[in-house]
Amino acid sequence: MLNSINPATGETIATHEELTAAEIEAKLARAAETFDAWRTTPVAGRAALLERIAEAFEAGKDRLARMASEEMGKTFKSAIAEVEKCAAGFRHYAQEGPAMLAVRRFDLGGGKAAEGHWLPLGPVLAVMPWNFPYWQVVRFAAPTILAGNVGLLKHASSVQGCAALIEEMIVAAGAPAGLFQNLAITSSKVEALIDDPRIAAVTLTGSEGAGMAVAEAAGRNLKKVVLELGGSDPFIVMPSADLDLAARTAVAARIQNTGQSCICAKRMIVHADIYDAFMERFAAGMKAVKAGDPFAEDSDMGPLSSEAQRRTVLDQLDMAKAKGARLLFGGEALPGKGAYMSAGVLVDVPLDDAFAHEEIFGPVAMVFKVADLDAAIACANDVPFGLGSSIWTTDRAEQDRFVRDIEAGMVAVNQMLASAPPAPFGGVKRSGHGRELSAHGLHEFMNLKTVML
Ligand code: NDP
Repeated sequence: MLNSINPATGETIATHEELTAAEIEAKLARAAETFDAWRTTPVAGRAALLERIAEAFEAGKDRLARMASEEMGKTFKSAIAEVEKCAAGFRHYAQEGPAMLAVRRFDLGGGKAAEGHWLPLGPVLAVMPWNFPYWQVVRFAAPTILAGNVGLLKHASSVQGCAALIEEMIVAAGAPAGLFQNLAITSSKVEALIDDPRIAAVTLTGSEGAGMAVAEAAGRNLKKVVLELGGSDPFIVMPSADLDLAARTAVAARIQNTGQSCICAKRMIVHADIYDAFMERFAAGMKAVKAGDPFAEDSDMGPLSSEAQRRTVLDQLDMAKAKGARLLFGGEALPGKGAYMSAGVLVDVPLDDAFAHEEIFGPVAMVFKVADLDAAIACANDVPFGLGSSIWTTDRAEQDRFVRDIEAGMVAVNQMLASAPPAPFGGVKRSGHGRELSAHGLHEFMNLKTVML
């Protein structure tokens, strides 16, 4: 049984029956069958379906957003923005995707040439998390459909309502049965799916633990895997930065989605010369953050996604304090119903302690003071993760150093990092491997077939 529990109230919204073994088998068989037909559907036809799916998401916007807010607590306005981004993601691949599949030509010399043809791989399994219950899935679904693959979704147990709605939208847009199927199953069923010869490849967004389990199973089966795991992104502020804008953006980047985004800025790394001036602004901004009803217009953030997620964050903060870190303010459970907590700021985190290397998936920032550029880079890289980063400096030489030396898949210069359909998205180190979005994301699960002419 998979339970949807509203984290704002603690009430169970729905319980979803897990699929039986026979139902899983039927869906796998249907995926394989559909692939046979879909792989030969002309690209223009696949693109036209993506346009219609974008329209279905737009038409169902309120319903989709309401479900996300109820199942995992994000503010309704941010859920609306997420659904709009999904529509834009489908449209991006509908409009720009066909050109990404153009035949490539390789000159072999001596008058000879070869061609590269982009061909699909087969049914792709996606294991997805609850934090952006639509957008994480669309990053996989849109390129999968355009590529000529078919998709099977194992969504997080807590957002099965969102998972069912995604399938509903895609079917309503006219997708053939079996093109995109939701599997209402727990994670214990994932390994057997990866072992199944009908599954061609797997993609996962989630924790390191889930990533390791899925990568192991994929490795045993020699199947392609893309992993988008956690991050503890640095947000580096140097003396030349616009401090008002940097501090305002740091607050937004830390508390977005109640701090539960892989690319939230989690560690503020601030040059000593402007540390006090930045902190004054940043602390004021964090103190002003309002945690409240996801449906209230004036809430900056809703509850954490579950009581368990709040417990995890509070336990991390207890551990940090035991190791000598100081919680300047906030980072506390709010009294009453719901998994609410206040935004907080943590300083004096001992850099050599394991805690400094952890991802805080909640609205609490760690702040570090550094003496110079080299120390900022060393601090930024002193974590096992390497997903995103944000650098604040108008000095061109400093920007170049950060871009070259920060160990991350993405760097945002004087702005908040956000995913965008045309730009590759992904990390290095323990943040995973492979890329989503852009042509790179489309090509991850395709066979570039070399044709010698
Ligand atoms: P998980 O990584 O456990 O969940 C993500 C997805 O993976 C879910 O569909 C989950 O299924 C599935 N899963 C979990 N374990 C396995 C496994 N062994 N084999 C196959 N699939 C698995 O995230 P949590 O919800 O537990 O969150 C824990 C932490 O993960 C967070 O605190 C945060 O640090 C990180 N996280 C990072 C995200 C990101 O965007 N990079 C997103 C979410 C979490 P099920 O729900 O059924 O367990």
